[in-house]
Amino acid sequence: MSSVNRVMTARDGYRGSRHHARARRRQARRRRRRAKFRVKLVKWSGAAALGVVATVMLVQPEGDGRASAAASLRDRSVPIAASTPEHQPAPVKPRQTLITAKRPAPPKLVRQPEPARPNVVRTTGRLAVVPGSTPARGTGRTLTYRVETESGMSFSGPALAATIHGILTDPRGWQPIEAVRFERTDRPDADLRIIIATPQLTDRLCSPLITGGELSCRVHDRVVLNAKRWAYAVPAYAGQLTAYRSYLVNHEVGHALGFGHSQCGAPGAPAPVMMQQTKGLQGCRPNPWPSVNPT
Ligand SMILES: [Zn+2]
Repeated sequence: MSSVNRVMTARDGYRGSRHHARARRRQARRRRRRAKFRVKLVKWSGAAALGVVATVMLVQPEGDGRASAAASLRDRSVPIAASTPEHQPAPVKPRQTLITAKRPAPPKLVRQPEPARPNVVRTTGRLAVVPGSTPARGTGRTLTYRVETESGMSFSGPALAATIHGILTDPRGWQPIEAVRFERTDRPDADLRIIIATPQLTDRLCSPLITGGELSCRVHDRVVLNAKRWAYAVPAYAGQLTAYRSYLVNHEVGHALGFGHSQCGAPGAPAPVMMQQTKGLQGCRPNPWPSVNPT
């Protein structure tokens, strides 16, 4: 052994002792760190277990809350995610879009103009002759007439004249019975004046006969037709305005031809045209034509 060889000295012994002391301290520190780590590990494991228990209790709140977490975990042989179907959350349905069928558009409200009520009552007291003429048809003596209307009423003069002429020349009318033929004219020397007038003027033109604003009449050469009756007829002729107008013309012209009033022959029989059908039918049926045999 050379001089350089290390010789165990007292100093060396001291150093060796210090070396062993440091090694022991390091081992002690390692043990403390391992111990601390085990403590942390235990705490962490406990917290994790509590978290799992809490989750189980939330998922199954109706369960026994006093059961330990370990028992809860022990009872569950399957993962929580694979819990029984009744505890599975309902599948989320896709959001449905409610489609409401469109209502059909309501019909457009359009206020319909009310049909103007014909003026048959407001009197002006002035008469106007319907211009024009209509030749007679058939054979027999000619009886001329002119049509006059009270001014201010809603009737069309030419339409009135056409209607009246059609009634007078109807084969069921007076022409074949009396061997006459009616000719319309606008001349002042006409044999007859057929006048459509308001109730008020009718009463004046019919005087001394009493028409009371409701009836029509024949006085001298005047056949006066009450415009109120012409427009609305009477209940006995409900829905038969055309027939009632024919009755009105034939009845009043019948007076001009010399006929007086007659009565209902038998219940259910056609009413004689010279019966005052405006006042009632006495059991007869409406009849506007003189050619109909009243029996
Ligand atoms: Zn009469």
